[in-house]
Amino acid sequence: MKLKGRTALVTGGSRGIGRAVALALADEGADVAVNYVSSEAAAKDVVEQIRKMGRRAMLAQADVGDFPDTFRMAQDVLRELGHLDILVNNAGINSDKTFVKMDHASWRKVLAINLDGVFNCTKVFIDQMLTQGYGRVVNMTSVIGQIGNFGQANYAASKAGVAAFTKSLAKELAGKGVTVNAIAPGFIETEMVRGIPDKVKEKLLAQIPLKRFGTPEEVARAVVYMVSADGDYITGAEVSINGGLLM
Ligand code: NAP
Repeated sequence: MKLKGRTALVTGGSRGIGRAVALALADEGADVAVNYVSSEAAAKDVVEQIRKMGRRAMLAQADVGDFPDTFRMAQDVLRELGHLDILVNNAGINSDKTFVKMDHASWRKVLAINLDGVFNCTKVFIDQMLTQGYGRVVNMTSVIGQIGNFGQANYAASKAGVAAFTKSLAKELAGKGVTVNAIAPGFIETEMVRGIPDKVKEKLLAQIPLKRFGTPEEVARAVVYMVSADGDYITGAEVSINGGLLM
C-alpha cells in the first residue's frame, strides 16, 4: 500500500471524481476526510465504504467557497485525523450561459467555489503542512481552462486561475516538502457530463481521439500516483487526462 499512515481530505468527495479519489486513496492505505456541501447521504456512503476497508474516515461538511466555514472544517479535520498530508481540491460547479446572458451572480458563484475554494482550503491547511515539512496538494482543473468553451467563460476562467495558482504555489513551496500539482480532466462520466444533451455529447465524442468519455477512476489513479512516493519529483505540473482532446 502506497499511502499507509497518510491522511487526506478530498473536497467534493461525495460524488463523481471526488468520490473515486477518496476511495482510491483509502484503497492505498490513507485515512480520508470526505468533504461535501449538501449530499450528506452520499458522503456518508463514501465514509462507510472507507471504514469497511479498515481506514479512518470522517465527514467534513463545508461550503469551500466560504472561508469561515472552511476554517471550521479544517479544525475538525485536524482534531480528528491529527494532521493532514494530502489535500485534493476537487469540489467544483458549473453554471453555463453565453457571456451575454451570464449574470454577475453566476460569475461570482462559480469563481467563489472553483477558485476561492482552492485558496480557502489550501490556506487553512498550509501552515500545518509546512510545520510538518510534508504536503501533497492536488487541484482539479479542466481542459476547459486550457482551451475555453462556448457558454463557460466563468468556469474556464476559474480553472485557468487554479492552474496559475498551482504553478505559483509550487514555486513558493518547493524545497519545503510540499508539492502542488493539478489534474486537468477532459470529459469524465459524472453528473456534470451526464447533464450534457445527447446531440452535444455526439459532437464532443467526435473530437476525442479515444472516442469515449473518461471514468472517475481513471482520474483517481493519477491522483494516487501524484500524492504517493511515485510522484515525489512532480511539482507545478498540470496533467491532462482527456482522451487526446487537447494535444
Ligand atoms: P460532480 O459530480 O458534480 O460533484 C461535485 C462535487 O463537488 C460534489 O461532491 C459536491 O458536493 C461538491 N461541491 C459542490 N459545491 C461545493 C461547495 N460549495 N463546497 C464543497 N463541495 C462542493 O462533479 P465532478 O464531475 O466529479 O467534478 C469534480 C471536479 O472535477 C470539479 O472541480 C470539476 O470542475 C472538475 N472537472 C470535471 C470534469 C467532468 O467531465 N466531470 C471535467 C473537468 C474537470 P455535494 O454532493 O454535497 O453537492
